Amino acid sequence: NGSYPNESETGQTLVIGSSGFIGRFITEACLDSGRPTYILVRSSSNSPSKASTIKFLQDKGAIVIYGSITDQEFMEKVLREYKIEVVISAVGGESILDQFSLIEAIKNVKTVKRFVPSEFGHDIDRAEPVEPGLTMYGQKSKIRRQIEECGIPYSYICCNSIAAWPYHDNTHPADVLPPLDRFQIYGDGTVKAYFVAGSDIGKFTVMSIDDDRTLNKTVHFQPPSNLLNMNEMASLWETKIGRVLPRVNITEQDLLQRAQEMRIPQSVVAAITHDIFINGCQINFSLDKTTDVEVCSLYPNTSFRTIAECFDDFAKKISDNEKAVSKPVTASNTEIFVPTAKPEAL
Ligand code: NDP
Repeated sequence: NGSYPNESETGQTLVIGSSGFIGRFITEACLDSGRPTYILVRSSSNSPSKASTIKFLQDKGAIVIYGSITDQEFMEKVLREYKIEVVISAVGGESILDQFSLIEAIKNVKTVKRFVPSEFGHDIDRAEPVEPGLTMYGQKSKIRRQIEECGIPYSYICCNSIAAWPYHDNTHPADVLPPLDRFQIYGDGTVKAYFVAGSDIGKFTVMSIDDDRTLNKTVHFQPPSNLLNMNEMASLWETKIGRVLPRVNITEQDLLQRAQEMRIPQSVVAAITHDIFINGCQINFSLDKTTDVEVCSLYPNTSFRTIAECFDDFAKKISDNEKAVSKPVTASNTEIFVPTAKPEAL
């Protein structure tokens, strides 16, 4: 599947997990940057929404290769035949250890100039969430150590939180609109976190893969303009919707109890939410290791989307939904109403 690149083409990039939440942002940014972009898609994947994401990316220019990273021999063939120079993996939390065979393939082929493993969160060598978050971090850490042992050139992307209302019971909060009934505030709502738009996670990841300064480094996303606590997030959202909502406090104990329930993936999200908004894991360390780099210092002339802009997008979605509800549509001489789009639940 897919066509072979021209001999003259460089920068061939393979994205794994494009049909996923983070992978789609990465793939779009990769395509926008003009890089020859290959996407690995599992043929077992048969969800209609994932199929439409793949179709969208294909229409934008992505070349689909069907297969799984667990097939090492196949991955070696792909890396060689398509002359892949950069591999970005955005496999989900349950597939982190699948990357071992991918690392083995990259090691054997020897031509990959940069590997970005699936991280896209916190610095797992620093943060220590409660279980079951800790187990997932442990898996990501094993992947880091294997990459380093094999001498594979890498960048670890620590982009912090996605810009959205931080639901503790949903792995993909940016798929869900911020609340319209009441805010759930973690702890006293004063601990700050970095909220980064999905498109910026993609954009800055792709900028960093060609940059010598990010070679074998941990790339932290710490835009000062996107550092907010939950009370500030709530007030900002209230200005967007033009009304004040009640605030309910979710205590540290509540979050720990959710984590202890060990429902996966919800409990992983609860554990990480606890680490962010109670422990302050995004802000309680300094970038003092020689392996730390920070994107705002690397690219001072490239701005991040602000939370206010991201909240404008959510407010627009709500207004579009309301218009859809109030607009009568004629079908077979009968008046029907388009239902409000419901936020996708976990
Ligand atoms: P998703 O579950 O949404 O998507 C995972 C993707 O990986 C899918 O496309 C899936 O394909 C693909 N995949 C899984 N296993 C394989 C395999 N063996 N071979 C090929 N493809 C495979 O993942 P997320 O986007 O939620 O997570 C990606 C990373 O981002 C994780 O490290 C996660 O911890 C992090 N994350 C960070 C967030 C933040 O706010 N900072 C939020 C959410 C995630 P298929 O369609 O076949 O299933």
